[in-house]
Amino acid sequence: MSALHELTAEQGVAALHAGEASAAEMVDAALARVEDDRWGSFLAVDAEGARGRAREIDALAERPPLAGVPIAIKDALSTRDVTTTAGSRILEGFRPVYTATCVERLERAGAVVIGKTNMDEFAMGSSTENSAYQLTRNPWDEGRVPGGSSGGSAAAVAAYQAPWALGSDTGGSIRQPAALCGIVGMKPTYGAVSRSGLIAFASSLDQVGPFARTVRDAALLLSHIVGRDELDSTSLDWPEPIAVPEATDLEGVRVGVVDELMGDGVEPGVRAAVDAALARIEGLGGSVERVSLATTEHGVATYYLIAPAECSSNLARFDGIRYGPRFDEARDLLEHYEVTRGEGFGPEVKRRVMLGTFALASGYYDAYYLRAQKVRTLIRRDFDAAFERVDVLVSPTSPTTAFRIGERVQDPLAMYLSDVCTIPSSLAGLPSLSIPCGLSDGLPVGLQLAGPAFSENRLLSVAHALEAAIGFDPRPPGVL
Ligand code: GLN
Repeated sequence: MSALHELTAEQGVAALHAGEASAAEMVDAALARVEDDRWGSFLAVDAEGARGRAREIDALAERPPLAGVPIAIKDALSTRDVTTTAGSRILEGFRPVYTATCVERLERAGAVVIGKTNMDEFAMGSSTENSAYQLTRNPWDEGRVPGGSSGGSAAAVAAYQAPWALGSDTGGSIRQPAALCGIVGMKPTYGAVSRSGLIAFASSLDQVGPFARTVRDAALLLSHIVGRDELDSTSLDWPEPIAVPEATDLEGVRVGVVDELMGDGVEPGVRAAVDAALARIEGLGGSVERVSLATTEHGVATYYLIAPAECSSNLARFDGIRYGPRFDEARDLLEHYEVTRGEGFGPEVKRRVMLGTFALASGYYDAYYLRAQKVRTLIRRDFDAAFERVDVLVSPTSPTTAFRIGERVQDPLAMYLSDVCTIPSSLAGLPSLSIPCGLSDGLPVGLQLAGPAFSENRLLSVAHALEAAIGFDPRPPGVL
């Protein structure tokens, strides 16, 4: 057997059920790598809590399904009594009184939370550089970003600190960091996973989803978190169980390549890796055709009206009274709000709150917010039309590989364009995942696959067959 931290979650579960290792040993192996966190993946480590739960699981007469396998959780998800900041000063030291439903479901199934991962403040960003606390480094090249906003979760999995992790994705925050870190990341259909306990960014877009080093692990993780939750009225009864995929070919699968996402803005090395994956799809018996999603070019502009509009409302609750620290001895209430929010929020969050407040102002609502909602409908229809011809749409996940730390910090628009490929399916509420499809100059390239609502099982099957054919080695040089 490989060292415990090198096992996939699936292998870890098997080893635990077979009695080849104890949960305490598995958790210790992960914690040893978290203590040497040279990538800055974690904001908080719950070593004591994790060891305690592992011991409890080891003492059970019968092991629960996930058997004591460790997991890392994005700091946007509330964990009872464990500091949860969403990467923001305004929540410094905040200890939630309850645990997010998805995390609770995993704990009930026997997963052990080892810590909370770094992220862009309130999930706003594409590099994790907007965290108020620390940088996270890409395990493939420590001078580069891991992507974002769930960069800590992606780095933790890529660096073998945990076999899998949870992230959240509003416009690409699971898929883009998965791509940049050479791992699998999935954003499920809108409503698949309860958001109870997820610190809200843009409620019509936010979804929780898995990071893992294999598609099968991502499916296994997802299978434990989907489904209706009384605490989230937008969560859905899931039509069928999420299956751990077995497919080895793509016979009869119709794949469409999104024309608009294979154009000029895509780095040559990214395009080459995606083209090679397309050839593999055909080699596995799938058909490949070009498909046009004409509204794709409006995705980023539409998203940057809708997401800030929703965030300006969601973030109104952070006023220094209900949560987190107070920054002042204000003379009156208004001054108290101003000082708390002025000091507690970072520059990107302030930019979004101002943009969103502006877009929602009565004089501008029709011209910006309402217009964006209409374009969103057109984007959705474009996908509907495409899915009459093909089963799965593919594109690069990100137009570039991991960029250098600092490279896009001064240029918000360049940062926003990091999500040009992931935003359209978010606006349409569709499931979409990223798998690694090769390297370009030593850096991972992600392939994005998207399908109609509720097509998770098919998407995971296609991704699994393709993953096996690609044979990507997820071990970054020098990490193990
Ligand atoms: N990078 C995008 C943004 O900054 C998406 C973030 C996300 O999915 N949470 O809003």
